[in-house]
Formats: sequence, C-alpha cells, structure tokens
Amino acid sequence: RLVPYLDVSPEARYPVLGALYHPPGGTIRHDAVNWGYARAAEHLGVHIHQYTEVTAVHIESDRVTGVSTNRGDISAPVVVNCTAGWASTVCDLAGVRLPLITHPLQAAVTEPVKVFLKAVVVSGSLHVYVSQTDRGELVFGASVDPYPSYSMRGSLEFTEELAGHVLELMPSIAKLRVLRQWAGLCDMTPDYSPIMGVTPVDGFLVDVGWGTYGYKAGPVAGEAMAELVATGKTPEIISAFDLARFAEGRLVGEKGAAAVGH
Ligand SMILES: Cc1cc2nc3c(=O)[nH]c(=O)nc-3n(C[C@H](O)[C@H](O)[C@H](O)COP(=O)(O)OP(=O)(O)OC[C@H]3O[C@@H](n4cnc5c(N)ncnc54)[C@H](O)[C@@H]3O)c2cc1C
Repeated sequence: RLVPYLDVSPEARYPVLGALYHPPGGTIRHDAVNWGYARAAEHLGVHIHQYTEVTAVHIESDRVTGVSTNRGDISAPVVVNCTAGWASTVCDLAGVRLPLITHPLQAAVTEPVKVFLKAVVVSGSLHVYVSQTDRGELVFGASVDPYPSYSMRGSLEFTEELAGHVLELMPSIAKLRVLRQWAGLCDMTPDYSPIMGVTPVDGFLVDVGWGTYGYKAGPVAGEAMAELVATGKTPEIISAFDLARFAEGRLVGEKGAAAVGH
C-alpha cells in the first residue's frame, strides 16, 4: 500500500522476503534548506564568501595563522577544513595526511509524473534507492563509483546499471524517461565514519569523511564543531571520530550507515 508499484510477486528475480519500515524518515529539498541555513547564519553575523578558493594554509611553529585564497589572504587563529570530496587536497596545503579516498557518487532524475510515491525505497540487494520529489520527478541513486576520481561527470554505464536495478523493483515505470544525471564527490574513510576534531597542526580542525551520508548530519556536526572552535575542547559526542583513531586502531565501523551498499 505504501509503495504501489513495487514488485512484491514471488516471480521477481530478487523476491522481496522482508523489509524495514522507518515512518519518521523523509526527504528534504536540500537547496531550500541550504539557503535557509545561509540566511540564518548571515543574520547572526556570519560572513559567507562564495567563489573563494583556499589556495594555501599559513602555519607558524605548528600553529595555523590563516589562509590564502584566490581573493586575498585571511588571518585566523582557527581554520576548519570541511571540504568533503576535496578534503585531502586542502589538508595537503597544511601538511596533514588524511586516510580519505574521493569517489564520485551519481544520481539521476526522471521527467515528472503525478506523485504516487511518498516513501523512500531502498534495496540493499540491488544497491539502489528511489524517491519522488514534490514536483513529481523520481530520484534514483546507487553506490559510489568503484574507482577514485575527482570527476563530477555522469556515466552511461551507471545509468544503464541503475535503470536495470530500478526496474527490478518497479517494472511498471519502464516508460519513464531520465531527465538528467549528475555526480558529487564523496570523502570515503576506511571505517565509513567521519573524521572530526583536531589535527597535528594547532588550530587546524577537520570535519570531513562523511562520504555518502553527511547531509542529514550537518546540523549536529556543525553544532559540535562550533563548540570545539569556541572552547578548544572536543565535545564528547564527536570524541570517537578523531583523526588519531586510525593510527591507534580504534575504528568506528559504519559500513551500513547509508543503507545502499558502498
Ligand atoms: C548524489 C549524492 C546523493 C547523496 N545523498 C545523500 C542523502 O540522501 N543523505 C545524506 O545525508 N547525504 C547524502 N549525500 C552526501 C552529502 O551530500 C554529503 O555528505 C554532504 O553534502 C557533505 O557536506 P559538507 O558540508 O561536508 O561538504 P560539501 O557540501 O560537499 O561542501 C564542501 C565545499 O567545499 C568547497 N571546497 C572544496 N575545495 C575548496 C577550497 N580549496 N577552498 C574553499 N572551498 C572549497 C566545495 O566547493 C564545496 O562547496 C549525497 C551525496 C551525493 C553526491
């Protein structure tokens, strides 16, 4: 009843034998949420510099003192690297090594149709998810591309495989046309958990490694990092996600966090 076009017949190639249902789960319009955050931050006095690329990190006696950008220098006693798929390149500027590998993650949307799907459907066996926007487009996605890359181009190989798997779930949407596809860059860590907190360079902090599931974590991660910036003390809630865990063998396994297999 929740997902009218899902093929639950025993003849399906991968018959549905069981499922998890999470009623509070949902989807958000990420662009609208981001603009909301930006406006609220600006009202609180935050300066947002768009189109401003950090090109160097200044360090004196193992302490960060600021950054250079393509639009000038900024001095700062604390710098937070939260550049996701580009995080290793920015850490390189500070001489900090991260155990991160960047993989593209692709998604696609179809032409809009009358809204029929209120839930997000995820298949761990088929490695796909399907949801519908309030404009009626179906949104499809899958696992990260199997190779590291900084390319944000979509690939035909991905769309073909994705379409095949989505149609295993919902054969009756076969006539829908794909409108567009895209890729974003995901910062994947060895244990699939983020890296948050201090680094060997004093004042140079990281909030990276969120991989394929960092959007929903934005508010709580931001709050905890703001506390660290303001007090210099790592809040308890993020202490397990420190960079030192990789050298000290304290991994925090989160391979299942994104529901779609990595
Ligand atoms: C297709 C796709 C689907 C996803 N679906 C979900 C989902 O359903 N749920 C979920 O929770 N997460 C999802 N994610 C993951 C989520 O989008 C990310 O984990 C999250 O956006 C990361 O947020 P962030 O603030 O850490 O980094 P980002 O939002 O990636 O921001 C990093 C910023 O750093 C900037 N930058 C890079 N280099 C520099 C530099 N040198 N100087 C200055 N700025 C720089 C970039 O331009 C970028 O704006 C998805 C990702 C993709 C690609």
